[in-house]
Amino acid sequence: MAESGPDGFSLDTLLAAAAEDAGGAVVPPIVQTSLFTFDSYQAFEDRMAGRSNDPLYTRVQNPTVAAFEDLVAAAEQGEAAVGFASGMAAISSTVFAFVRPGDRIACVEHVYPDAYRLFERLMRPFGVEVSYHPVEAFEKDPDLLAGVKLAYLESPNSVVFQAMDLGAVAAHAKRHGTLTAVDNSWATPLFQRPLTLGIDIVIHSASKYISGHSDTVAGVVVARAELVNRIRDLSLPLLGGKLAPFEAFLLTRGLRTLGARMRQHQASADFFVDRLSCHPSVTAVLSPGPNMVPGLTGRSGLMSVELDESIDIPRLADALKLFRLGVSWGGFESLILPVQIGLRQAGEMNSMQRFGVSGRLVRLSLGLEDPNDLWADFEAALRESVR
Ligand SMILES: *Cc1c(COP(=O)(O)O)cnc(C)c1O
Repeated sequence: MAESGPDGFSLDTLLAAAAEDAGGAVVPPIVQTSLFTFDSYQAFEDRMAGRSNDPLYTRVQNPTVAAFEDLVAAAEQGEAAVGFASGMAAISSTVFAFVRPGDRIACVEHVYPDAYRLFERLMRPFGVEVSYHPVEAFEKDPDLLAGVKLAYLESPNSVVFQAMDLGAVAAHAKRHGTLTAVDNSWATPLFQRPLTLGIDIVIHSASKYISGHSDTVAGVVVARAELVNRIRDLSLPLLGGKLAPFEAFLLTRGLRTLGARMRQHQASADFFVDRLSCHPSVTAVLSPGPNMVPGLTGRSGLMSVELDESIDIPRLADALKLFRLGVSWGGFESLILPVQIGLRQAGEMNSMQRFGVSGRLVRLSLGLEDPNDLWADFEAALRESVR
């Protein structure tokens, strides 16, 4: 069961019931327009002077996008949200709104590789200092964030999936006046609501579980209105990474079934963790679960599995029938990403290489297929790939 959300409704109820259009349409319409016209000179002038908030131009404001933003904000128990063209647009627009040359970002190790490249290839040349720290340092060192402008966090982080006590980190950050941002793509608001733990900003790659159907790339940021307004004022209009109306429609559609999907991903992940943990060729299962850290209430379908030297990983990948080879995750389909392939990404600086990760890991995204079928496929492929 989903925990209860705002207004005492469970999250499932909130996501199913919200955003009914005044005309009676149960699905909010796609307002596919670039600009909005005004009835009179006065109405146009009022809008430009900030005396009204009527939609003006879709780069900054669109009703279909707003319906999605309102729904995500409610789900995360935040005051406001702002949608973006991708998770990376959400991340970069957040960083550019709050960080200036001379500021320092403290980032968790094993961060999403493109977030790492943003810090190293764009922020550092602009004179922003970036330091990287393990999960435990954020939790245990009360002075780690002294002099830090932004703590950039993922819980759990990427590939190694170490979860973090976000409440403890938020408490340290508040003492130092450090802004905290957490990528919550893995857990979704169904399993973790960082804002309720004291975190300032939640970021999603909505391309993953929020969409849930592997048919769009998008992002969203949720925070207090004051912080979202700063993003809306600065980086949304000026970097221009806006969310399109059609993508917002797909995301609202995805949110309707988030609870049902996440519970199925969790059931399959529990099933896999049980069986993998006693499989003789498996040396580690990296998959945080409920209550591993305060505030984490579920297990999503994205995990890594470490295989011993008896398994030929390329042969395993080719023997699988239901798990397909590819990047991304969070859709209805099951995927495998051998981590050694990611480490060899041509010419790219890589957070996983820098902070160390085993080439014997495979990342699995368990989709919505029957878990018995998925396990039968994985176990058979393991058997076929013994050297
Ligand atoms: C995919 C991903 C991103 C980037 O999102 P895009 O929508 O692909 O831009 C950010 N964080 C995490 C954890 C991701 O998995």
